[in-house]
Amino acid sequence: MIPYLDLKQVNTAYVHDFQVAFKKFIDGGQYILGDEVHAFENEFATYCGVGHCMGVGNGLDALRLILEGYKRLDLLKSGDRVILAANSYIATVLAVMHAGLEPVLVDCEDIYFNIDATLLPHGAKAMIITHLYGQISYIDQYLAFAKENNILLIEDAAQAHGAIYKGKKAGSFGDAAAFSFYPTKNLGALGDGGTVVTNNGFLAQAISQLRNYGRKSTFEYEIPGFNSRLDELQAAFLRIKLTHLDQENEKRREIANQYLGKVQNEKIKLPYYKGDASHVFYVFQILVEDRAGFIEHLGQCEIGHNKHYPIPPHKQEALAHYKKLSFPTAERIAGQTVSIPLNPTLTQEDITTIIECLNAY
Ligand SMILES: *Cc1c(COP(=O)(O)O)cnc(C)c1O
Repeated sequence: MIPYLDLKQVNTAYVHDFQVAFKKFIDGGQYILGDEVHAFENEFATYCGVGHCMGVGNGLDALRLILEGYKRLDLLKSGDRVILAANSYIATVLAVMHAGLEPVLVDCEDIYFNIDATLLPHGAKAMIITHLYGQISYIDQYLAFAKENNILLIEDAAQAHGAIYKGKKAGSFGDAAAFSFYPTKNLGALGDGGTVVTNNGFLAQAISQLRNYGRKSTFEYEIPGFNSRLDELQAAFLRIKLTHLDQENEKRREIANQYLGKVQNEKIKLPYYKGDASHVFYVFQILVEDRAGFIEHLGQCEIGHNKHYPIPPHKQEALAHYKKLSFPTAERIAGQTVSIPLNPTLTQEDITTIIECLNAY
């Protein structure tokens, strides 16, 4: 059996380094916002090529805290409209809602599965661009739209750690960016974690305070904040994994190139890939018309799978007020999407088995 993703296996390579880090952590006795978090923040800011990085509780909070931070700076106010992709993960919508703003869902195009730029509405105050599946699509068009309309552009980079487009890393294009370190992500912790990166010092200051109860000094609270802090132990683990991220992303691209070069089956629509470092293949997503039949075939080959995502946010019970909305491309993709195993622990034998299975469908 080739599982879709074996997280234990993913982390096995780092167990010795984790143990060393754990001993240092126990001996140090610092548990919250200590040296490991600060060191990781510096290292990740440098990695992304941005000025500031604030470790927070998870990716959802990272998105929400960006929006709350802009509210503190009076650049957003309650009820403002925020554009986002109808086919993003539900967290993107929830972050906007929880920040008291109005999500404006926009359908996606069917090459990169990013927002269809021809459908961008006017009147919003911000837009969130999700680098879905790990790929930075043509970000220039969204940046140009944001500039023309004088609105904020926020990157949801939760799937795109280390992706590079025109020499710049995911997270360094917009006004601010959110990352998740959920264990399955390309840079995954051994628990929850997230971060905000930005070049805006005022936003960074606001978020540093907001994540820590709005605290100004030991006994003084300046603004009504939250408790959403990257855990010290997770930061220690993430520092180790960050040093291997580029190598792991390269491995992912090598596997993706094998799939793209060797899978030849007209019943399978392979993803579009520019062939450069703009994609880090968090997910290798294919489209098939008879998904149930294809999944049965994968099962016979003893190959695991996943779906990103079979029910778009506007069809979720949690967002029942959006039920009447219609996004034809997002809905078609939701009905046909299958993710096949792609991660750095796959052996050449696994890769060959997967290619042969897809060709035999
Ligand atoms: C994983 C993910 C998130 C949320 O991250 P959590 O750490 O699970 O809160 C947000 N957006 C996208 C696109 C994601 O893939």
